[in-house]
Amino acid sequence: MSQYHPLTEAEAIEIARTINEVFPTGEELVSKEIGDGNLNLVFHITQPATGASLIVKQALPYAKVVGESWPLSLDRARIESEALVKQGELAPGLAPRVYKTDNELALTIMEDLSDHVIMRKGLIEGGVYPKFAEHISEFIARTLFFTSDLGMNQQEKKRLVESFINPDLCKITEDLIFEDPYYDSPNNNIEAHLRDAAEAIWADEELKLEVAFLREKFLTNAQALLHGDLHTGSIFVTPDSTKVIDPEFAYYGPMGFDIGAVFANLLLNYASQEHWSADEAARRDRRAYLLNTIRDIWTLFEAKFRKLWNEHGADRVFRAPGYQDSYLSRLLQDTVGFAGAKTVRRIYGLSHVADIDSIPDAGARERAQRLALSIGTSLIKHNRKAVSIEDLLDIASAAV
Ligand code: ADP
Ligand code: MG
Ligand code: MG
Ligand code: MG
Repeated sequence: MSQYHPLTEAEAIEIARTINEVFPTGEELVSKEIGDGNLNLVFHITQPATGASLIVKQALPYAKVVGESWPLSLDRARIESEALVKQGELAPGLAPRVYKTDNELALTIMEDLSDHVIMRKGLIEGGVYPKFAEHISEFIARTLFFTSDLGMNQQEKKRLVESFINPDLCKITEDLIFEDPYYDSPNNNIEAHLRDAAEAIWADEELKLEVAFLREKFLTNAQALLHGDLHTGSIFVTPDSTKVIDPEFAYYGPMGFDIGAVFANLLLNYASQEHWSADEAARRDRRAYLLNTIRDIWTLFEAKFRKLWNEHGADRVFRAPGYQDSYLSRLLQDTVGFAGAKTVRRIYGLSHVADIDSIPDAGARERAQRLALSIGTSLIKHNRKAVSIEDLLDIASAAV
């Protein structure tokens, strides 16, 4: 069974059975494929007699994109597995446990997190996650710091960069986030009522200049090992636990891209609240909760990152007075810019978000889409002028 082929349910069960720490006894196992099937298979394997369970995730050698197949390297399964292990070491408790990796079959066997909820769904349903800011700020501060030239041996870092070269998945990001939305590309997925908004963006040279700077950073700035796809669909939550999954886009890139991804997805949910909140008071509360969460994440992240640097930063040149402040200022600006780019692409690029797309009323959906575009484009245009996280929050609050 070791040569690559997409697993059947029976084969997934056979492989799961080898994980003795989860299934020490021989009772029957049941498999259910629960992935969305675009890029990967996800088998949920349970043992009804004992209640034990695990997840087998297998990469497919293609992505289904607008009905077509787009070849995609299976090496991303190795990258996902290695990133999960590294993130779990650097941020204990914040990534699923990995039981086994098989690079030939392009699969990872990992902890079943079905007692958690995918955060996008949780937010749509009005969930509140009081530990989330603490947890995700810990995840980003530790994974970014300890994989950067600030927090690890700079020669070893170069080898790590090499083992996370991820060209196929980087190209998806480069195309879908940093190119297609700014041109009349066939990959865009534009609802007819948004055509004028997309056309206005295609003609906005000030905006496109900022996108060029962001694209350059994504292509060239090997600052830290990123998760690479840190939206709320890659985060499992409960009120007291947070687990980050799905780092198949991991590569060495600019730190602000991960932080911006979290903020963008909170802002997309913010933009959708006219529909999801019951009335105006509830909407105000919900939006305040989302913006406060962003503020808390940045504030906690910055404090943790500075503390890690002060305690573990070995490079004496980087202790030059003013350098740490400058680094954090630039990181905030990157975060604001990437948050904007990640917001815009979700409105009329190839891949949208359920927070907005599942609003059934076309009028309410369009208002949410236009609000998100207004926030996203303002963040992109403002990014190099941002001086505080309040800039981002003010832009979101002021947008209509
Ligand atoms: P993809 O890369 O195809 O997006 P994900 O890793 O995001 O795959 O997984 C897709 C879905 O499978 C998740 O939204 C979740 O419902 C389920 N899933 C993935 N990993 C786990 C896990 N460790 N525990 C429980 N469910 C999982
Ligand atoms: Mg998916
Ligand atoms: Mg996913
Ligand atoms: Mg994925």
